[in-house]
Amino acid sequence: MLEAEWTESDVYKNTVARFNKAAQTINLDPNVAERLRHPKRALVVSIPVRMDDGHIEVFVGYRVQHNITLGPAKGGIRYWPDVTLSEITAMAMLMTFKCALVGLPLGGAKGGVRCNPTLMSRGEKQRLTRRYTSEILQMIGPDKDIPAPDLGTDAQIMAWLMDTYSQDIGHAVPSIVTGKPIEIGGSLGREEATGRGVIYTVIEAAKHLGVTLDESKTCAIQGFGNVGTACAKKIAKIGCRVIAVSDMSGGIYNSKGLDVQELLDYAKGNKTFEGYKGGDRLSNKELLEIPCDVLIPAAVSSVITKENAPRIKCKILAEGANSPTMIEADPILKENGTFVIPDILANAGGVTVSYFEWVQGIQKLFWNEKEVNSRLWEIMSTTFRKMIHVAAEENVDPRTAAMISGIRRLSKAMLVRGFYP
Ligand code: NAD
Repeated sequence: MLEAEWTESDVYKNTVARFNKAAQTINLDPNVAERLRHPKRALVVSIPVRMDDGHIEVFVGYRVQHNITLGPAKGGIRYWPDVTLSEITAMAMLMTFKCALVGLPLGGAKGGVRCNPTLMSRGEKQRLTRRYTSEILQMIGPDKDIPAPDLGTDAQIMAWLMDTYSQDIGHAVPSIVTGKPIEIGGSLGREEATGRGVIYTVIEAAKHLGVTLDESKTCAIQGFGNVGTACAKKIAKIGCRVIAVSDMSGGIYNSKGLDVQELLDYAKGNKTFEGYKGGDRLSNKELLEIPCDVLIPAAVSSVITKENAPRIKCKILAEGANSPTMIEADPILKENGTFVIPDILANAGGVTVSYFEWVQGIQKLFWNEKEVNSRLWEIMSTTFRKMIHVAAEENVDPRTAAMISGIRRLSKAMLVRGFYP
């Protein structure tokens, strides 16, 4: 079944190629390198779900654990129409390096179900989540593998996952997931943590480049879901103008700046930006090419390619999404002087506060939001500076430097634990 499921995706090829580049730069032990090119485990499941019209539809789902040397596997679950095993494997690899980079005692995993959540009712999504959870139940656990929200999933889905797991075990197990609602043990600050973390790295990048983030600076954001909306709120709060945002149906542009709160309210009551009066419509393609100071892709993978990279005119590209930039675009962006904050750092705020949520759940001692945010700032800003230091030391770009930092920490742990059997 696994082999039948495997078609190598661009995002998988990109991830392995970027890993190889970092591994070669530091002459990584070839045995460690070979191990890290493969996931530890991958599970493919069929998920029969009774749809509202009475028929049963069978969805395909995955859970992949890439590495668990440093601790339990950690990674989101996405519900998306083009989810594949290869893409989920690449995302699990990225999670391994992300957790190692920011210094968390966690490994890397990812899960996904091939479905279109925008076309499913609440009841269908609940039944899908419960059956998917029961199919992957043997693989997950608070000390084994802890899921979280990702593309197309949210706190409610995590609550159903937590409930299904807890029903099976016989008592409440809040630490089985992160990104869950506050009422069942979620952490304050988790919902906005990924976007907040993205902007923390933008603040550090601006400092590094000698740029002042004020109202003369503009920002464009692709994707207006969990990550995109939190980015918009935070960057508007520090005084920059958000000039364009988009969702899957296209975007909205206003050179004078969009009213972020008004947009959030509009998005709550409407499925698309169609009819919104505060700006002009633009396509997702146009949004990426808009001249701006900060561009944040916060939707899907592989949107920045060798074709559009020459037309990208931002100073800072902060990768809120996972793997939004194809490897062929990297040298073009560098040539054009774009400073790229790579995904494994830029969007690491999500897994960092997920880690805080897991710790709070285990200790049954909850922190206030100020404490969550200040610990997040500490980790994101320190890791940014570490990345810059490694980039200078190894004479590499920030993306390779971030990868090197993660690989170094992980490889030391793998070598000291030794090889089994
Ligand atoms: P989400 O489902 O909440 O939102 C996704 C948004 O992207 C929606 O507004 C959707 O309309 C839009 N979108 C979908 N396809 C698009 C397209 N082709 N062009 C433009 N917009 C499109 O998802 P999210 O949780 O915000 O995740 C977004 C990205 O961030 C993903 O790549 C995810 O892996 C990454 N990420 C998320 C988290 C997290 O905590 N949620 C953490 C780290 C990384």
